Amino acid sequence: MTARLLEGRPVADALWRDLEPRAAAFSQRVGRPPCLALVGGADEAAAAYGRQIERQFARHGLDVSTPTPQAAEMLSAISRLNRNDAIDGIVILTPLPLGVDAEQAVLAIEPTKDVDGQHPVNLGRLAQRRPLFAPATALGGLRLLQHYGVPVRGARVVVVGRSPIVGLPLALLLIDADATVTVCHSRTDDLAAVTRAADVLCVAIGRAHLIGPEHVKGGSVVLDFGTNPGPGGTLLGDVDTDAVAGLVGAITPVPGGTGPTTVAVLAEQTVRAAELLGRRARA
Ligand code: NAP
Repeated sequence: MTARLLEGRPVADALWRDLEPRAAAFSQRVGRPPCLALVGGADEAAAAYGRQIERQFARHGLDVSTPTPQAAEMLSAISRLNRNDAIDGIVILTPLPLGVDAEQAVLAIEPTKDVDGQHPVNLGRLAQRRPLFAPATALGGLRLLQHYGVPVRGARVVVVGRSPIVGLPLALLLIDADATVTVCHSRTDDLAAVTRAADVLCVAIGRAHLIGPEHVKGGSVVLDFGTNPGPGGTLLGDVDTDAVAGLVGAITPVPGGTGPTTVAVLAEQTVRAAELLGRRARA
């Protein structure tokens, strides 16, 4: 068997196709496009991610604002963005300038504008199965499974990784989607025995090629969130794709799998925030 490659680009394209008319309708009704504020981003990688968001949002009729407050002003700047009716969503790009605590910055965001689902209120809502916004990478994983018609209802799903930005929210989203979910982490005994039972295996560890043939069930679907630096500037997943490709039914490539969905999901949640805020303002 050779695994089907689950590319992220078609998933992102489909999300953008759904979003464009919603963004256009909002623009027409309110007189401006949905707008995301990006705050922070103190290194080149974060700045490049910010530019990527700006480019893609602009291409599909959404706006990005990039205020650049001084470190000492960061929290009050976020409070002003919360109160600013022309801003629908706020995302903190890490790292933040020296002296600004990322946790404090996230806590300063009004949960109804937290379109990357980082605020504890939004993680709590997800845990209560009343999701408002989820971390974009995690929700992108669910969107990818939905796009390719991978059944999750009743399926045995194993998530490896329990970080609050990928593994844990993904597990909660999958529980909400009626999967039977097991979460593994660095203290899991006999990881391979657990992952081999998975119909769908989601891996967000941050260790290049940790998952190999001994970890997968034949015919299963594997989502690889890993982005690890490889030799010569390459990017390696957490899964050894070449080694498992003959066993699994489908797998996301790295790069080009889970990565490309993230910005489109940020846009999805920004448009949703805009629609919700617009509705509240008229009420
Ligand atoms: P993280 O915060 O470092 O969390 C890693 C998780 O993996 C932890 O829960 C850790 O367990 C677990 N883990 C570590 N070693 C393990 C092992 N040997 N066996 C089983 N579990 C193990 O990382 P993250 O932020 O979730 O990111 C994970 C990966 O996703 C990274 O490669 C990152 O670059 C990538 N990522 C991709 C995107 C995207 O857009 N595709 C976005 C964000 C992150 P403990 O909890 O016990 O420590």
